[in-house]
Amino acid sequence: MTFGCKPCQMPHRSQCMEIEELESRYMELFWRQKRSQWENYVDEAHHDLCAYDEQIFALLCPYQGVLEGGTRWEKVLNAIINRSCVDSHPRVAQLRNRLDDRDNYAGDIESIDKRDHIRFRQLLSGRMREEVLQLMQERQRLARRLGYGSYPELVLWAEELDLEPVRASLLDQIKRRLPIATGLAKDYGVRWSSWSEDLASIGYHSASADPVRLVAVVLERLGLDRLNAAISIAVKEQGIWGYVGVVSVPDDIRILVRPITDLQQELTLYHELGHASAHALNKEAGIFKTWTSSHDEAMAVVMERIAALIALDDAQRKAAQELWLLEDTRCATSALFELELWDKPDKAEELYLHYYGAWDIGAPPAGVWAADSFRSVDPVYIQNYIVAARVADLTIAFLQDKFADDFGEWGRWLAENYYADGRRRSLAEKCALVGGLR
Ligand SMILES: [Zn+2]
Repeated sequence: MTFGCKPCQMPHRSQCMEIEELESRYMELFWRQKRSQWENYVDEAHHDLCAYDEQIFALLCPYQGVLEGGTRWEKVLNAIINRSCVDSHPRVAQLRNRLDDRDNYAGDIESIDKRDHIRFRQLLSGRMREEVLQLMQERQRLARRLGYGSYPELVLWAEELDLEPVRASLLDQIKRRLPIATGLAKDYGVRWSSWSEDLASIGYHSASADPVRLVAVVLERLGLDRLNAAISIAVKEQGIWGYVGVVSVPDDIRILVRPITDLQQELTLYHELGHASAHALNKEAGIFKTWTSSHDEAMAVVMERIAALIALDDAQRKAAQELWLLEDTRCATSALFELELWDKPDKAEELYLHYYGAWDIGAPPAGVWAADSFRSVDPVYIQNYIVAARVADLTIAFLQDKFADDFGEWGRWLAENYYADGRRRSLAEKCALVGGLR
């Protein structure tokens, strides 16, 4: 594709470069940042992620509003540029990365209150609150400067999703599922103060299972064993529940999980395998190797729920459905709270009590909201899990109907129709094949 300086409206034409060069320079920074992120999480390296944001901002922002967006390639590049103008803005990146490191706030609290989980989170949240609000305000201001009504509007636009249908599916999840989820939470004694730990009590418990073997079984049934060479798995006792480091597409994809000692952790492994498989079977180049968050999570949840069909017995599959119901409903609660919070940041505690209080499983501690990383590090992200659950339901119903239990055909279909062309088609276009998102 040739695209010289002619349509470039930049005041300093000397900065203007061939757009292909822009793409390759961006991708180089993108992969370096991904590798550094992995090394920070897993090897406890201390790479300065802000430095990448600074470079990405300086590289892309002069091109904001320059490309017409008539082709798919330009449309994707515009989405990357517009988000980078906000998310990689120096003030945003600096605050975000500061909030991403709990040591900046926990310090002395850690030793005092570590065993009192809620008290710890309240203290932490109290210290983070002002900076979280400041970060939201900054993102909102920058998004509006680009012409969007709000920051969530910018994110949803870049995700190629419409805000109102997303909001409707969140409300629908609450309306139809909250009473069942609340009942389940009461049956299992799940509390806000120890949500993740309590969820781990649902389903089996065992001595640590080998994640490499579990993944190999699922990939073999799907006829995707060739992925074993591209995907590596690291296990870490503490810290992140699950994470995928996309170091190089398609040949170096790294999964990080905790030891597999219960059902929740096994499902997390399959979830990460879904992220990894989509990247490892992407046959595209350049920006089509990148991804939107909704596409990424959809691929993860599709695999998680297919793997449960392959690897779990009936009792564990039933327990998995209970876990998904609880988690999906919690995500819908969190997303609805966040969407309203963007409109009314001064009412944070009141809104938190309104949404979380509807669960009726004991008073939610309002003073913890700012310690949730989905309010600062990954904003306007949590709704993706609800979109993803919908994609998984549609996809599994479609595959069951088309191929019954011939999982080899399921794997082939996913590779060809979901994974191979990466970001060349939107999630909505891919979902049109299985019935379509609302
Ligand atoms: Zn995920």
